Amino acid sequence: MKDEFVVAICGNPNSGKTSVFNALTGSHQTVGNWPGVTVERKEGFFRVDGRKYTVVDLPGTYSLTANSLDERIARDFLLNGEPDVIVVVVDKTNMERNLYLVLELMEMEKNMVIDMNMADEAEKKGIKVDTVNMSKFINLPIVDTVATTKEGIDDLKKVIYELSSNPTKPRRLKYEDRFEKYVVKVENLLKDSSRMLNYPLRWIAIKLLEKDEYVSKLVDDETMMRVQKIIEELERNYGESSEIVTAEARYALIHGISKEFVKIIPTIGKRFNLTDRLDMIFTNRIIGLPIFFLIMWAVFQITYWFGGMFSDLIDEGFNQLRIFFSNVLSGAPVFLRSFIVDGVIGGVGSILVFLPNIFFLFLAISFLGDLGYMARAAFVMDRIMHLMGLHGKAFIPMLLGFGCNVPAVMATRTLESEKDRIMTALIIPLMSCSARLPIYVIFAGTFFKKNAGFVIFLMYLLGMILAVIVAFFFRRFLFKWEKSLFIMELPPFRMPSFRNTFGEAWMRSKMFLTKAGTVIFSAVVIIWIMASLPFGVEYGSENSFIGYVGKAIAPVFAPLGFGYWQVAVALIFGLVAKEIVVSTLGTLLGGAESLSMALPKFFTPASAVSFMVFVLLYVPCIATIAVIKKEVGTKWAWFTVMYLMILAYIVSFITYNVAKVFI
Ligand code: GDP
Ligand code: MG
Repeated sequence: MKDEFVVAICGNPNSGKTSVFNALTGSHQTVGNWPGVTVERKEGFFRVDGRKYTVVDLPGTYSLTANSLDERIARDFLLNGEPDVIVVVVDKTNMERNLYLVLELMEMEKNMVIDMNMADEAEKKGIKVDTVNMSKFINLPIVDTVATTKEGIDDLKKVIYELSSNPTKPRRLKYEDRFEKYVVKVENLLKDSSRMLNYPLRWIAIKLLEKDEYVSKLVDDETMMRVQKIIEELERNYGESSEIVTAEARYALIHGISKEFVKIIPTIGKRFNLTDRLDMIFTNRIIGLPIFFLIMWAVFQITYWFGGMFSDLIDEGFNQLRIFFSNVLSGAPVFLRSFIVDGVIGGVGSILVFLPNIFFLFLAISFLGDLGYMARAAFVMDRIMHLMGLHGKAFIPMLLGFGCNVPAVMATRTLESEKDRIMTALIIPLMSCSARLPIYVIFAGTFFKKNAGFVIFLMYLLGMILAVIVAFFFRRFLFKWEKSLFIMELPPFRMPSFRNTFGEAWMRSKMFLTKAGTVIFSAVVIIWIMASLPFGVEYGSENSFIGYVGKAIAPVFAPLGFGYWQVAVALIFGLVAKEIVVSTLGTLLGGAESLSMALPKFFTPASAVSFMVFVLLYVPCIATIAVIKKEVGTKWAWFTVMYLMILAYIVSFITYNVAKVFI
């Protein structure tokens, strides 16, 4: 009779596997690496009745699809390491998600026990599981444990002992008929196949429907071709890819099981922890959204209030610097003085004044993120984001876009699905970043005096509405909607660490600074050169190189209401960074008088609105395009440029012609 057994512990990350492992093995542990990779491998043993049980702590996995290295290690061990007994650790407070893995293991017909860990937490939350009946139903032993206090660990050992003497098979669970039909078809095909398969056929059938690469290689080519036909039939029937249908079928089954055996009894107020109570407010169906908007409003207010104070300081500092250098360079040639004073100091200064606003916005967002609120915001926004065919998570990068599009595009990395990532990156430029604000401020201030604030608000709103519309079309024609299988995780609320929050905000601000330091500085130099040549010409006048370029392009803008060469030049430079538009207009239109005095000579209220709309929509800036290229590829970067140009032209044209009638 065999007296040495191997026990594998598997489960989702953070379900308490390692704690269970420690509780089972006590001090008898060794730590090494998995063969060939540097992922920690923990092994230990315990004895019952003269039998030795070697326990292996597998990496955490949500499923056995083997997408990541961790999943591959766990799966290889479960498939080929041939453990005698498997302990699936389930976080009892998060059953539906955890049961996915259990279901896969059941399909593999493994000799296993379900360890419902975190029983203490579950009890606090009022989660009750009818383990007796559930265990009968699925034909698997279920043990409650609290790994951290070793509660239930002795029971677990007993069950492991039992299973090692009398291996059991879990019940074969049937899927809903519509899907089950295809599973049976593939299973029958496999029965006829000539090749010997060492795994349960039903499991192989389901994995094939899931298009699992590893399993597909186990099957001979002819069978595979016939399976392919069945998959195509399934996809036609469902109008959705087979892997998604499979996963959905599993979730449907899990949902059914938990409806049947899991009861959540709302416990009396006192026993809810803080996170639960906060979640009742923040993720509430009715007040969650208003609270979210209130918080966002507060963030923007605080940002502009704090930011404004520091911006004034920076502005003043750069003014002093200009005066200082004007004096120092009073003897130098005019072109050199204007290069340093107007070009370098003026140019860089006009961008750096935004740094405080951006920094405080990023600080507020990192703070809310570390606090755990951002996940709730994404949760609350999920329904609205679905209108755009996007996941709730895409909302955070878009929010960052109001600060600066560059870090916003980088933040799309947090999105799981490639298509979501690309789509989000493409619409981020429609979020009106802080560089566009000064343009609105001067135009709205000049033409709409008392209603300036409202007009500016409309610009932001227009950007968001267009984002929804554009996203809808992209979803329809470019990225076919695939339901994401992702489950929104809500981490507990906790007090952020100052270092983390501050560090993250600083890192994002640095991206903005790098942009100001490199791209914008070079642009300033180029503008200055083009405005000063050919030699002897008046800086930035009609006869400079810039003037020629502007005059060539200006007619294109005439239908939009601003066909002036100076405006064309400002827009070209705006490609480098939109911050430059105002300063260029200041130089070219203003001359001796202030820009707000000069503007009414060139613009009507209607063309002013049209101009603001154009600035909002046309290509954000080179830095944003560069980062889109880096994150999602050259093709999409060009696509972004093209679609924004066309959109800007059409919407401005409509705006101008409509506005002419009304204002
Ligand atoms: P693993 O990622 O699955 O290996 O999970 P760990 O064993 O590292 O546990 C994750 C966290 O949950 C740790 O902070 C543990 O202390 C905690 N934990 C584990 N089991 C229990 C439990 O039964 N009850 C409670 N309250 N906490 C637990
Ligand atoms: Mg662990």
